[in-house]
Amino acid sequence: MENQGLLSVVVPCYNESETVHLFYDALSKQMATLPYNYEVLFVNDGSKDDTLDQCLDLFEKHPDHVKIIDFSRNFGKEGALYAGLANAKGDFVTVMDADLQDPPAYLTPMFEAINQQGYDVVGLRRVDRKGEPPIRSFFARAFYRLINHFTEVEIVDGARDFRLMRRQVVDSILELGENQRFSKGLFVWVGYKTKYLEYENVERVAGETSWSFWGLFKYAIGGIVAFTTAPLQLATVMGLIVSMASMVYMIFVFVKALLFADPVAGYPSTMVVILFLGGVQLLSIGILGEYLAKTYMETKRRPSYIIKKLYTKGGFDESK
Ligand code: UDP
Ligand code: MG
Repeated sequence: MENQGLLSVVVPCYNESETVHLFYDALSKQMATLPYNYEVLFVNDGSKDDTLDQCLDLFEKHPDHVKIIDFSRNFGKEGALYAGLANAKGDFVTVMDADLQDPPAYLTPMFEAINQQGYDVVGLRRVDRKGEPPIRSFFARAFYRLINHFTEVEIVDGARDFRLMRRQVVDSILELGENQRFSKGLFVWVGYKTKYLEYENVERVAGETSWSFWGLFKYAIGGIVAFTTAPLQLATVMGLIVSMASMVYMIFVFVKALLFADPVAGYPSTMVVILFLGGVQLLSIGILGEYLAKTYMETKRRPSYIIKKLYTKGGFDESK
């Protein structure tokens, strides 16, 4: 088979000691069937177990294929993705979880779509949410409806981060230099001709998911704040509605007082109004706070990650 270029595989790893070997084996088997050279960039995102040792073992055995980016601490999957993309040298780049929830077998149809059908990006989207707690599915669906309604990007429900991209797409993503990264959105925001292959969800091979419900909730809020300012208009809209309603009510009260004179009453209605307005005001301040916090953090211009050490046979030109 004639070599058709280099594929960079970016693998964020947080406490993946049990999975990195399984991952590498599965990936290298698949790559043996494809006419591409490949490099695997394991990004050790401050793991608390011996993920680094496991990666180093792979690095010693396969120095031509394995590179390791070792972070100074846990920066989160977003930082790990960014570091991987920034250091990927490939003509094609893919992002995969270490836990084999992104099956390497899909690389074959992905390459087909890129080479034969002229796509720039091929992603994977799961067709069902089987095996997921119903409450989580409910919130996930609500999140996609909300973000797609208010933003210019169309984030596909159930799309994984696993995707194969041409070099040019990766360069575009790297140009987005924000440090509060929401990759699900950024991947779509850059545009390009994208195809989604459908697949059924697979369980992770070993280890545990690092997402809690609360973690996902914060992630979702972060995504919305990063991609739309529509919630900021909520206060304006609510304010308008409440003011207009109160005008009507004012006229009603005035007329009633003129015609019938008015004994003091109305404790319940007063309470309702106070509580309602208090709620709306707190919500609005909270929304303002979300945006202010993001703006504040972003203005510090801190990097999204710090690399403690790079393990690579050839040496990287760049370290961030
Ligand atoms: N991950 C990471 N840093 C973190 C959390 C997760 O690099 O702080 C990696 C993790 O090792 C895995 C991928 O991100 O390769 C997805 O995480 P996980 O499988 O826990 O998420 P899920 O598949 O359940 O959404
Ligand atoms: Mg996973």
